[in-house]
Amino acid sequence: MGASITPRCRSAVRRTRPSATSATSPGAKCTTWLAALVPQRPRPFLQTIVDVVPTRTVFGRVCLLGDAAFVVRPHTAGATAKAARDATTLARALKRAGRNVDAGLSGFQKMQIEFGRGLVDYGVALGRRWAA
Ligand SMILES: Cc1cc2nc3c(=O)[nH]c(=O)nc-3n(C[C@H](O)[C@H](O)[C@H](O)COP(=O)(O)OP(=O)(O)OC[C@H]3O[C@@H](n4cnc5c(N)ncnc54)[C@H](O)[C@@H]3O)c2cc1C
Repeated sequence: MGASITPRCRSAVRRTRPSATSATSPGAKCTTWLAALVPQRPRPFLQTIVDVVPTRTVFGRVCLLGDAAFVVRPHTAGATAKAARDATTLARALKRAGRNVDAGLSGFQKMQIEFGRGLVDYGVALGRRWAA
């Protein structure tokens, strides 16, 4: 959810210096651009980035798909594909299970959580690499 940037946050970004990282790293360049850009905008906003990793996505005959199940970082560029994958995985799992819907849902949950965790971990690893 986007939120207006507070004066405190604006001042923190203004004070940001790339000294914590190598001056030539992509992270340092990005920090420098951001520090220059944010104070220039009359009404900047913040988008918080969170990693959501559930331990289960199936609750009886209800299951969570897409963003409702996992939230992955934007730079994975994989959230929409994951939502579509969730849907096709669910359809296949239910088809395979036939009348045993609970077994189908359970199998779906296992596959979904494994894939979702992998994508979340990938987003975190990419972020760390860029910040280094
Ligand atoms: C600014 C932005 C940029 C993005 N860029 C990318 C990108 O480049 N690549 C990428 O892969 N992903 C991107 N994403 C993420 C991507 O949009 C989501 O991962 C994807 O849309 C998730 O699909 P979903 O079906 O789970 O949820 P959604 O697409 O959010 O669909 C949920 C639907 O449920 C509806 N809804 C909500 N509450 C109710 C209710 N109570 N009753 C009925 N309907 C309801 C909503 O109106 C919405 O239509 C971006 C997201 C944002 C916000």
